[in-house]
Amino acid sequence: MVKDPVCDVEVEGNEYQTYYRGANFCFCSLQCKQVFDKAPEEYADAAVIDDSEMPA
Ligand SMILES: [Zn+2]
Repeated sequence: MVKDPVCDVEVEGNEYQTYYRGANFCFCSLQCKQVFDKAPEEYADAAVIDDSEMPA
């Protein structure tokens, strides 16, 4: 199971996912995916621990 970085809920399926900064993020709903897609840096920073330190 992976965590939905937007609403912090554990999701099982891979129905809604997006690829960002070399990592795959899964979401509980299309809504959460859209929220993430709008501001991925806000959520990805919390989810991805060790990644390239690129300025936004
Ligand atoms: Zn969600």
